Amino acid sequence: MSILVYIEQDQGKIKSSSLEAVSYASALSERSGGKVSVLGLGTIAEEDWAQLGQAGAEAIYHVADERLNSGVIQAHAHMIALVYQQVNASTLVLAKSALGDAVAARLAVKLNAGLVSNVVGLPELSDGFVVKRSIFTGKAFVDTAIPTENRILAIKKNTQPIKTDGTAVIVEKLTLELPESVFAAKITGKEKASGEILLPEADIVVSGGRGLNGPENWGMIEDLADSLHAARGCSKPVSDLGWRPHHEHVGQTGVKVAPSLYIAIAISGAIQHLAGVNASRHIVVINKDPEAPFFKAADYGIVGDAFEIVPKLTKAIKAL
Ligand code: FAD
Repeated sequence: MSILVYIEQDQGKIKSSSLEAVSYASALSERSGGKVSVLGLGTIAEEDWAQLGQAGAEAIYHVADERLNSGVIQAHAHMIALVYQQVNASTLVLAKSALGDAVAARLAVKLNAGLVSNVVGLPELSDGFVVKRSIFTGKAFVDTAIPTENRILAIKKNTQPIKTDGTAVIVEKLTLELPESVFAAKITGKEKASGEILLPEADIVVSGGRGLNGPENWGMIEDLADSLHAARGCSKPVSDLGWRPHHEHVGQTGVKVAPSLYIAIAISGAIQHLAGVNASRHIVVINKDPEAPFFKAADYGIVGDAFEIVPKLTKAIKAL
């Protein structure tokens, strides 16, 4: 069984979720055999390729066509299907993301493959191919059997350790024909809802709650977020009250985030808010109430007044 991993990039940088996917594929190959090949599309920074070998890739293929930079879904699906067949793969591994979902759905049809999303664990191979996936925003897990010959596994972000002990691999440049039809629908321009980093993709999120008392106090949240190159989020009441735009609302009924670091400031930690943040790798909570439920989900907690702590924290970060 050969395994192909689809690599996502953002402005030329390989996403850490894709390194997780490669590490997952490498662990899968140790268990079941099969070479791990990876495919990167569009412009990718030279210095980033080494990480793929370290994460366990044994062959690296790159199609450097600039038209692939903007995540043209049909074109990506077309390329992946071609390379999948060329490397004689039976499993495709990719990161669960907006682009990953769109590409995976198309490939499931093209390759007649069983698709399982939100995968968190390596498959059980003694009884067929049975893989663990997360459901109900991470509250429960189910084992899903994939009886098809071809399989697509979309790996949930922040669930896999990234390997760094693999060996260097030479990148093989591919020149493959791209029919014009795969560019039938293309993105001609992108506009963010506001100037800041997008929440669902952010590596760090700084989020504020109702305890901040009003929109006039968001300057310190923005300062902290800017000092960390972080996206800004908020709790539901904050956006309901119109203190912050709705697209910043994090939680069960808002945006689900999966950053490396989530900083929650003056947010109580209601279950509906936690449902949107529990995929975060590390959670820091700042709250003046030591009994606030958020502390139970926190890796680090600071009990105190946000109006004192946040400016000091920002100053310390800027001084680094
Ligand atoms: P509060 O509960 O008012 O908490 C404010 C916190 O700030 C308190 O813990 C307080 O101790 C602290 N605080 C006050 N002053 C300071 C200070 N100076 N310094 C430090 N800490 C301070 N909520 C979401 O966020 N996202 C959702 O997606 C969502 N979906 C929902 C769906 C449903 C169906 C329902 C019923 C509710 C949903 N909610 C959601 C609302 C949720 O139940 C909570 O009401 C909400 O998350 C509370 O927001 P909060 O923590 O900002 O405010």
